[in-house]
Amino acid sequence: MNAAERLDKDYVWHPFTQMRDWLAEPQLVIVAGEGVRLIDADGNMYYDGVSSLWLNVHGHRKEAIDRAIIDQLGRIAHTTMLGLISQPAAELAAELAAIAPPGLAKVFYSDSGSTAVEIAVKMAYQYWQLKGVATKRRFVTLANAYHGDTIGSVSVGGIDLFHRIFAPLLFPTVQAPSPSCRHCRLAGDPKRCGMACLAAMEDILARDHGEIAAVVMEPLVQGAAGMLTHPPGYLKGVRELTKRYGVLLIVDEVATGFGRTGRMFACEHEGVSPDIMTVAKGITAGYLPLAATLTTTEVFEAFLGSHTEQKTFFHGHSYTGNPLACAAALANLRVFREEKVLAGLPAKIAAAREQLDALRLLAHVGDVRQCGLMIGIELVQDRAGGVPYPAEAAMGARVCRHARRYGLIIRPLGDVVILMPPLASTAAEIGEMTAIVRRAIDEVTGE
Ligand code: PMP
Repeated sequence: MNAAERLDKDYVWHPFTQMRDWLAEPQLVIVAGEGVRLIDADGNMYYDGVSSLWLNVHGHRKEAIDRAIIDQLGRIAHTTMLGLISQPAAELAAELAAIAPPGLAKVFYSDSGSTAVEIAVKMAYQYWQLKGVATKRRFVTLANAYHGDTIGSVSVGGIDLFHRIFAPLLFPTVQAPSPSCRHCRLAGDPKRCGMACLAAMEDILARDHGEIAAVVMEPLVQGAAGMLTHPPGYLKGVRELTKRYGVLLIVDEVATGFGRTGRMFACEHEGVSPDIMTVAKGITAGYLPLAATLTTTEVFEAFLGSHTEQKTFFHGHSYTGNPLACAAALANLRVFREEKVLAGLPAKIAAAREQLDALRLLAHVGDVRQCGLMIGIELVQDRAGGVPYPAEAAMGARVCRHARRYGLIIRPLGDVVILMPPLASTAAEIGEMTAIVRRAIDEVTGE
């Protein structure tokens, strides 16, 4: 056993991992990255098929980003934002406001997607308290939502499997149906049903708006639920409803932001500007932990006043707005501009779509969902009846293990195989990744 693997197994407790299984099986030690590939301790190369957990944008060891961090290290690695200005944090805030959907003008930093959501929830709640509407203290959330793992972000989530055990610790929310047509309990066909999910949202807001601070949602696709895509127009519809009923809209772009759906932010597909938007993951191109909660001047100005009026937003973390991370984020945005990354995406997304169409025909593929370069391939026992595999069969995990043999690292969400290549992947590389997924599915389902 490699020395690092020994140490890991002796001392490390991994996230979202059943450690009994982890300890029983051989594990990979990653020692380096190069472009869209990862390199293990034996020198084997693998495609980074989930962008190192949906983060990496321009590939690993991107010269411009390496250089920006090294340059910043030559000045300072970290200082506090409590009472001091950090130059990269100030510059980045201006750039984020410039590229964000119109109206988002103020940037509150933190360190992870979960904290960005915590901040959004606390901000929306305090906003209404400061506006003198004390009754608006509840949140509308979506079934199947995922917004992170801290208690507040779990409270606004909706994936039972991950968080059921913590239910007694959570604050209650009003849950609207998931706008996913897959497994829809309402109607199942947006053309026929006229978006029953949106009508359900309207019912809630019409009834409870006096008590609702905000609707919290992932735009276009519920990622962690298995890339459940939403019908076009749903996001825009919720925006209209929240405006009509005087409720804030919090859009969580942690997974979708920074090009992942083909636009810089998913909101742009439907011309939506939320009141509060959370970003993390791709903000530093996958280099360093950083997150931001963006909001409007309207929300910001409600907090102007004195400590004694309780108008200050009492929230902050030791590493908030870390200068190294902000320098990486600035370099990330520069690469987007200079290499015209967004302009190159439609061809890559179309290439992926073509490859995925072939997968749809496989007997054990029940659904293929794609939102830009966010892809979910759902495995089923029987495509015709949509019968799932028993959970004990762990088909998703087995397919991902097989894919590794052929040089692709991916992770499943249950029986949904997730493919989320770095945006820097070429169409040919995406084709190779998809071919490996197909081979792994063929082998595992044919066993
Ligand atoms: N929101 C969404 C939509 C996410 O997909 C995630 C992570 N997958 C989070 C929040 C939480 O982010 P983090 O893991 O950085 O806390």
